[in-house]
Amino acid sequence: MKLYLILPMLLWCLNSSAQKYNFEKEYKGIEPKVIDWRRDFHQNPELSNREFNTAEKIASHLKSLGIEVQTGVAKTGVVGILKGNRNGKVIALRADIDALPVTERNDLPFKSTVTSEFLGQEVGVMHACGHDTHTAILMGVAEILSKNRDKIKGTVKFIFQPAEEGPPPGEEGGALLMVKEGVLKNPDVDAIFGLHINSSTPVGVIRYKSEGLMAAVQRFVIKVEGKQTHGSQPWKGIDPILISAKIIDGLQTIISREVDLTNEAAVISVGKITSGVRFNIIPESAEMIGTIRTLDYDMQKQITERMKEMVPDIAKTYGGTATIEIKSNTDITFNKPELVTQMLPTLNRVAGKENVQIQKAVTGGEDFSYFQNEVPGFFFFLGGMTPGNTSSFPHHTPDFSIDENGMILGVKALTEMSLDFLNN
Ligand SMILES: [Zn+2]
Ligand SMILES: [Zn+2]
Repeated sequence: MKLYLILPMLLWCLNSSAQKYNFEKEYKGIEPKVIDWRRDFHQNPELSNREFNTAEKIASHLKSLGIEVQTGVAKTGVVGILKGNRNGKVIALRADIDALPVTERNDLPFKSTVTSEFLGQEVGVMHACGHDTHTAILMGVAEILSKNRDKIKGTVKFIFQPAEEGPPPGEEGGALLMVKEGVLKNPDVDAIFGLHINSSTPVGVIRYKSEGLMAAVQRFVIKVEGKQTHGSQPWKGIDPILISAKIIDGLQTIISREVDLTNEAAVISVGKITSGVRFNIIPESAEMIGTIRTLDYDMQKQITERMKEMVPDIAKTYGGTATIEIKSNTDITFNKPELVTQMLPTLNRVAGKENVQIQKAVTGGEDFSYFQNEVPGFFFFLGGMTPGNTSSFPHHTPDFSIDENGMILGVKALTEMSLDFLNN
C-alpha cells in the first residue's frame, strides 16, 4: 500500500482508539449535571441505613431514563437494570451513598449544616468520605449508557449501596446485606467495578493495584479476668491491668517478629482499654477492643490464630484468664488480576497512560470486598485533589474536600469499562 494511503488510515486508527465511543459530547453535557447532583447530595447528607431522600432522588433519576428500578434493597439501596439492544454478559457498577457523623468545617455554598442523631448523640452529618461524588458519577454513567443502548451488548446493573461506613450497631446493612438479598443474581453478574474518590490523588489520575488493594478489617474484644485487691497489696490479688499491658506487648510481637512483612502490610491496634474505678484499687477485670488489618488471607489466618493462642496463655502466665473474640467488618478488597489486565487498556485510553498509576496497598477497608468475594471485581482510586496541591485533608475529617473537576474521569472510566467489558 502507498504511504499516502497508510498515513491517513494510521491517523484514523490512533484517533478512534483515543475516542473509541465518540462520547465527547455526552461527557461535556453530563459534567455540569454530575456537579449539580453532587452538590445537592453534599448539602443533604444522610447517615448509613438512613439514606431515604438520597435513594428517592437516585430512583427517580433512573426511572426518568427508562431504567428498570428496584428500591428498598438492603434497606435503602437502589438497583437499576439497563438492558442493551443485544444479549450478552452482565456488568455491575457500584456506588456507595452514605455520609458520616462529622460536622463540616468547609466554607462552601453547598456546605452541609445537617444534624442527626447517632448512638444517642446529636451530631453533624457530612459527606466526609466523598460518597456524594460516587453517587453523582454513577447517575451520570446511567444517563449516558441509557441513551446508548445500541452500543450495549448485555446488561448493566447500577448498584447504589447504603451503609458502606457500617450500619448502626444492631442493624444489618451495606454490601454484605445486598449480597444476601441477591443483588448479584437475576440477572447474574459476571463482574463488578467500583471506584473511590481520593483527596490526596490529583485530579485526572487513576490509581490501581492488582490483588489486595484495601485491607480486611477485623474487630477484636479481649476480656481479662483478675482478682480485686487493695492497690497497696498487689500480692493479694491478680492485676488485670498488668496482664492487659503484657497482652498488648505480645500482640505487637506477632506483627514485628512473626509475620513476613515483606509479603504484605499487617496491623494490630488496640483502640480502647477499660478497667478500674479509682487510684488505690486493683480492679477485677479489664476489657480491650481493637482492630486487625490484613491484605492476605494466609497472613490473616496466621495472625488471628496466634492471637487466640497468645491471649489466654499470657493471662495464665500471670495468674489470670482472658478470652478473645474476633469479628470481620470487611474482607480484602481483592482485584482479580485477569480482570485488571483486561480493563487496563480502557483506563489508559480514558485517562492517558501516564495518569494511570500503581497504588500501594491501603490498610483502610472497603465493603466492596463482599461483592468481590462473589464475582470478579475491580476497584480503583480516582483523583480528587486540586492539581498543584501537595497536601490535603484526610477522608472522615471536617475539612475533607474534593475538587469536582475530578469526577468526569470517573464517569468516563465506568462508562467505557462497562462497554469494553460487555463488547469484548
Ligand atoms: Zn469512609
Ligand atoms: Zn468511602
